[in-house]
Amino acid sequence: MRVHLLRSQEYSPDRLNDVMNLLARFKGPIEFVAAETTIAEPSIGMRTWDDEESFSKQEEIISYDSLKSPNIVACMDFPLDEQEMTWPQLFAVCEKHRKSRNIPANESIFLLTDIGNEHNWFGCTNSARNDFFVQTSHWSHLFGHAVDERFPIAYEIVSWILRALIFHTTDEMLKAVHARSTGCFMDFCLDKREIVMKLRTADICPKCMEKIEEREVNKAVLQQILATMEGIRENLLFRRRSSYLNQPSRMLVNGYTKRLFLSDLGDLEIALNPKEKTMYLFYLNHPEGVRLVDLIDHRSELQSLYARFARQGDTEQQDAALDRLLDPTDDNINQVMSRIRAKFRAALGDVQYKHFSIERKEDRFVIALNRELVRVMD
Ligand SMILES: [Zn+2]
Repeated sequence: MRVHLLRSQEYSPDRLNDVMNLLARFKGPIEFVAAETTIAEPSIGMRTWDDEESFSKQEEIISYDSLKSPNIVACMDFPLDEQEMTWPQLFAVCEKHRKSRNIPANESIFLLTDIGNEHNWFGCTNSARNDFFVQTSHWSHLFGHAVDERFPIAYEIVSWILRALIFHTTDEMLKAVHARSTGCFMDFCLDKREIVMKLRTADICPKCMEKIEEREVNKAVLQQILATMEGIRENLLFRRRSSYLNQPSRMLVNGYTKRLFLSDLGDLEIALNPKEKTMYLFYLNHPEGVRLVDLIDHRSELQSLYARFARQGDTEQQDAALDRLLDPTDDNINQVMSRIRAKFRAALGDVQYKHFSIERKEDRFVIALNRELVRVMD
């Protein structure tokens, strides 16, 4: 069962890669494939959100009871301008991709896009239930940085897969939607901010479970979807708890190219460039810390790391790059350190990143992380 993830131009390959890594953790018959290309969108309209109230609402297409909105600190300025596309336009992008790649009708295509949609939904599916879109923008604005955007995006993807499996028509699906949020994946979340509750419970209510049984959804597929929802829930809770307890995630250093993954945060990858990775792994190997002026004494160690990661340049060019990095009169090393810091900070927030980044401690630089939390797999 193949699911193609197609990104629109403004949704970066890195962000898509983050979502792919998260989904790939949960093995099963559903295979997620990142589409190589992006497709230029047709004409994109603009809308203006006058206030947060309307911005936070998915437009109702079903009847609903009144809902209480949680108390969330607003962090956007209104009025807010947003690009938007109609639903048919969004599905047309999927369709175009399907045609150009000869993707059979039984494989699904998800368009991940920062662009808003006419009814302000998190996502939706077409009548054939094989084309989908999921909106990727505004998550941090809706929830502050308490929610890593990969979690709701991955959750939306697997939820839509499940919905497409258990409902035969979009109308049937709309009728089954829960107007009042209960923590079930079929909660409509008229107030978009309520989706956090769904992520934290990762539940399927008895009524929906009955429906799933009735439709005889493939057990292995269901298991993969449920495991993904449960995994997202655990990661989300870990993130909350870890800030309270100041307890960092475990880190996996994987393979010959030493990719870095934060294991307790849904295998979030910290993508470092060759210089950054060289410095990072060097300091990871030296828990005692090393003064910048002493780096030159470790040149051969740094050199062998850099040679491993540098994808281009001959030995001479690599030497020159390393010379510059180790030159105490050059600011290069500080730039590298601060880029590493910025990447961990973006991934972990203002408090947690300090466990992982290379920080000054007295006269030397050091990574504070308890090395028992680091696992190296060659
Ligand atoms: Zn339900």
